[in-house]
Amino acid sequence: MFEDTSLVIVLLVASLVVNLITMVMVIVLFRKNGMGASRKEGRGGSAQVEAAASTAPVSGIVFCRACGNQYDSTSPACPSCKAVR
Ligand SMILES: [Zn+2]
Repeated sequence: MFEDTSLVIVLLVASLVVNLITMVMVIVLFRKNGMGASRKEGRGGSAQVEAAASTAPVSGIVFCRACGNQYDSTSPACPSCKAVR
């Protein structure tokens, strides 16, 4: 009985040690990934905002072939020279 209980205790301690090691590794990785993710989010967020800000107007603005004026792509014709695109 004593050997069984001691074996159980050893296994419990070993499992606790493994859990502690896993927790420490997870915490370390989480901190590294958290810092990297925050940096990536800061860069990625600004990049996405810049991409959205740069692509949205470009996709919505067209140049008139007749006068070269910029107007919204939703309008069928140029507002200045009335040239249908
Ligand atoms: Zn025009």
